[in-house]
Amino acid sequence: MNILTVRDLCAGYGATDVLHKVSFTVEQGSIVALLGANGAGKTTILRALSGLLPSRGLVEFGGTDLRQCSPARRVELGLAQIPQGRGTFGDFTVEENLAIGAYTINSKRQIKEDMERWYTAFPRLAERRRQQSGNLSGGEQQMLALARALMSRPKLLMCDEPSLGLAPAITEQIFEIFKSLNHDHGMTLLVVEQNADLTLQFAHTAYVLEAGDITVSGPASDLLRNEAVQQSYLGV
Ligand code: ATP
Repeated sequence: MNILTVRDLCAGYGATDVLHKVSFTVEQGSIVALLGANGAGKTTILRALSGLLPSRGLVEFGGTDLRQCSPARRVELGLAQIPQGRGTFGDFTVEENLAIGAYTINSKRQIKEDMERWYTAFPRLAERRRQQSGNLSGGEQQMLALARALMSRPKLLMCDEPSLGLAPAITEQIFEIFKSLNHDHGMTLLVVEQNADLTLQFAHTAYVLEAGDITVSGPASDLLRNEAVQQSYLGV
């Protein structure tokens, strides 16, 4: 079953469309990779799905047509985005950042339970819960951005270039966390990445975006063996 269906999505900035009728689906319970070079339009897709950018075309999430939904409503429905560059609030503590992530949740008890759950999953965040998040390392900030998004209890987590600025070993740790969120918590993930090699090893399905169009799609293992993908994105 598809949790997300995107059909003929067009979006851009001003009068210029960056996305030209992009269509793809995300199966519930899967990890989907959205790959492509700099400027292909990957971030534009995520911003359109989150409702931060006006768009045309169909976006259906969990059976709801998102076209009339505000960004906050989309979060309530279970769509969360971790923006490129993390988007954590550096002057606020780790705990305050997590509380902000739970802004759509009314139950204080639920917020407390979720905080404890993610502190258990990310002990580094627990140790630093009273520290200003601006002092965290890049990897810790990515974990905080992830935990903050999880505080909204998403059904689909969209992550924009999680590897950006991180050492390879830390990137691998982040991807291991994605894998366990998917495997142990049944979370569906849509991951935008330039690091195609690593992403294809973790994803089930992948799409390649070129100049606002999806040009290649299929099981991630097939894309790893695809000659055009190897030449353009895998440095083979
Ligand atoms: P990157 O990996 O560099 O973020 P991307 O695939 O995510 O690349 P987008 O950020 O979606 O690409 O950008 C797609 C195109 O839209 C680029 O040509 C970019 O210059 C343009 N663009 C992005 N943001 C804006 C903006 N705020 N105003 C005008 N043009 C923009």
